[in-house]
Amino acid sequence: MKILSVRRLRGPNVYLARPVAVARLRLDELAGQETTDLAGFPERLLRALPGLAEHRCAAGGPGEFVSRMRVGTCFGHVTEHVCVELSRRIGREVSFGRTVASAEPGQYDLVVECPVDESPDSTLPAELLDAAVEAVTSVAAVLPDFDLAQRLAELAAVSERQATGPGTRSVVAAARRRGIPVERYGDLGLLRLGWGNRRRLAWDARTDRTSGVGVDIAGDRQVTRRLLAEAGVPVVPGGAANTAEQAVRLFNRLGAPVVVKARRGRPGEGIALDLGTPDEVERAFAAAGGDVVVERQLPGRDYRVLVVADAVVAAAERMAAPSARGGASRDVTDRVHPDVARLCRRVAALVGLDIAGVDLRLADVAEPVPAGDPTVEPAGGVVEVTAAPGLLRHLAPEQGPARDVGDAIVRAMFPGGSNGRIPAAAVTGTNGKTSVARLAAHLLAGTQRVGLTTSDGVSIDGRLIHRGDATGPGAAQMVLGDPGVQAVVLETGRGATVRGGLGYDWTDVGVITNITADHLGQDGADSIEDRVRVEALIAERVRDGGTLVLNADDPWVRGLVDLPRVRADRKRVVWFGLDPRHPVLTAHLAGGGTAYLLADGWLVQATGARRTPLVRAADVPGAFGGAAGYAVANALAALAAARALGTAQQTALARLAEFDPPRHNPGRGTLLRVGEVSVFVDDARDPAALAAVLRTLHRLWGAERCLAAVTLPGDRRDDVLALCAQVLADGLTRVVLYDGELRGRAPGEVPALVEREMLARRPELTPVRAGSDAQALDAVLRLAQPGDVVLLLHGHADAALGLLHGRGARPAEAGLA
Ligand code: ATP
Ligand code: MG
Ligand code: MG
Repeated sequence: MKILSVRRLRGPNVYLARPVAVARLRLDELAGQETTDLAGFPERLLRALPGLAEHRCAAGGPGEFVSRMRVGTCFGHVTEHVCVELSRRIGREVSFGRTVASAEPGQYDLVVECPVDESPDSTLPAELLDAAVEAVTSVAAVLPDFDLAQRLAELAAVSERQATGPGTRSVVAAARRRGIPVERYGDLGLLRLGWGNRRRLAWDARTDRTSGVGVDIAGDRQVTRRLLAEAGVPVVPGGAANTAEQAVRLFNRLGAPVVVKARRGRPGEGIALDLGTPDEVERAFAAAGGDVVVERQLPGRDYRVLVVADAVVAAAERMAAPSARGGASRDVTDRVHPDVARLCRRVAALVGLDIAGVDLRLADVAEPVPAGDPTVEPAGGVVEVTAAPGLLRHLAPEQGPARDVGDAIVRAMFPGGSNGRIPAAAVTGTNGKTSVARLAAHLLAGTQRVGLTTSDGVSIDGRLIHRGDATGPGAAQMVLGDPGVQAVVLETGRGATVRGGLGYDWTDVGVITNITADHLGQDGADSIEDRVRVEALIAERVRDGGTLVLNADDPWVRGLVDLPRVRADRKRVVWFGLDPRHPVLTAHLAGGGTAYLLADGWLVQATGARRTPLVRAADVPGAFGGAAGYAVANALAALAAARALGTAQQTALARLAEFDPPRHNPGRGTLLRVGEVSVFVDDARDPAALAAVLRTLHRLWGAERCLAAVTLPGDRRDDVLALCAQVLADGLTRVVLYDGELRGRAPGEVPALVEREMLARRPELTPVRAGSDAQALDAVLRLAQPGDVVLLLHGHADAALGLLHGRGARPAEAGLA
């Protein structure tokens, strides 16, 4: 057996709400075999990994997996379970696994859970899968030389190396408890908490508000000492030396014993204690690197007080000598005298740190600190200040209660219990995603800066920042992580979601435009049910209390609310539709629900018995006087989404009137004029969209005046292309076919297939072939008569519009035809 590839889905995905790794496994020598074909296999595997005895499969209880091995199961399934078991053996707590047959014979997709906090770059999933393959093949072939214990030790070491430190872990855990989205950057301890303009960064007990100057001050013991002393803070007496003579002079002035430590460096590094003679001081000076501070070693105890956002959140007493870095510690948080707390808060503020470790030498932290008096030698005081202080001593002190300092940091970063989120909507469906997402973002943008992802790119506040398909998790992260953004609209593509999972955990609003047969056969979406499963994920990941905006005219979309995983009962459902008498709508309204519908030529917001007319269908931008029913449906969906995200009705309607489709949604029903011929540039690429567009053109121009230059993407399955060809054959007599996006097809293959299917439907047709988009456009314009309309299908709006402008195209007046 061999693992051919591993990819990680870092967000909720079609398999699981948590991250998973998906591996392609080739069975090779074990292809076609089952566990029952190898005598004694289950017993030998159980001896090696006794934990498998508890494994479940799907709905079964503990022990189900063993039963399956005994009746016979494939080795892909076994490898999946062994991988999960190996994970658990190294303390990587996961439980989910699934094995699905792939389209390739003898190959399986193994889906195994990954811990939420594991680095997205971690090599562990791949290493565990390889180890699982090794374990299964060795047990299958009874190889004596496989050393499981050794392998587990190696994996545990990898896991240890790639894990975050305890401080980072506590911040992540606290954020998750508070519902704050957290992302880890690669294998760093750098964390992004929250979204958009609520987004904050944290990195090893520093935040994006930790002053850089503060870090530099704290990093220099002498600068810190001076700054604090001049502010009247009692500091341990001492001074800086960069020659041995200076060090000895300081020693003579301060009196024995003294401490010598490097002027810069982490606490406890290069520190020499109990120095009683000039000789010892000289040696310590050299050992510390020749740039030191010399301090009086006062009697008393060492304390570390952790100040977070002007509050003392923990205090520990260092038990062992400070030369042992970190040392054993005892929690003394509850003993800190208010004077000491006040002093430490003042120290953190003076240095300029939002998170500071204040090190003190005091007789007792529970006693008051006398005011600084230059005429009296201090009995104790501040020794130094640490930026990015270690948190372990508070999280897991050797003595005394643990302090959840991660939570204190998160609370300080997100005051008032904020969960750091901004309004977010996801838009999915077969057709109209980009159109609805753009319109919804435009409606929201009246009052706020909006981040938008679509299949055309990423834009922030109306400006394109990234060109190209942006319907996957990376693009979602791009806008959610942008500190300028106040709300987001995410077009969520089916393919990108299957391949990469979602780039978010929850949205407030999920819009599902429609579900049809497009894309069948790609990415494992082999049936409409598979397709529904993907759209259901977007619906499922609308938060409790959030809004599902659903198309009442579409039977598959209607069915979503009945899927248990969607949990529609916990959400607000807002239907939209062109048929106001649909029973789903009437029942919903009778129950007091809200819907956006088309009634008597108006787009209407309906709640219970109340009807609020919003805009006439004839006035919807891009709907061509209401002839484009699909554009009216898209407008209803976008209005519902914008309203659900909190946009006021008046704002939404004013923005709707300003929406200029040629500018804001180019290439989707963009009408131009070349000479006496109208050209309708569009991106319809599946039977439903083609039918919708042809219906519109027929209404406006009449069927006999329509012709088209057609391309369809090569990654559609043959039967889907055939359906497209039938729609074209039914709606057009003059058609030019050309190759656009080949996506794995040979040149000419798709046009040939479409031509064949069109002729099978209507043998009298005479489709024309063209080699390129430009040739197709010229050919179709030659076929056109004055007053005709040409449907120019194109996957790239800019390119199509460029071609047309090159042929003298000008905008068609709003009245058209
Ligand atoms: P893609 O999957 O390519 O990203 P999309 O779902 O984002 O597509 P749009 O780009 O908004 O869809 O529209 C593509 C084409 O689909 C439009 O040009 C139009 O022909 C058609 N279309 C748009 N909205 C609808 C709709 N609600 N129903 C049917 N067809 C539609
Ligand atoms: Mg199983
Ligand atoms: Mg799109």
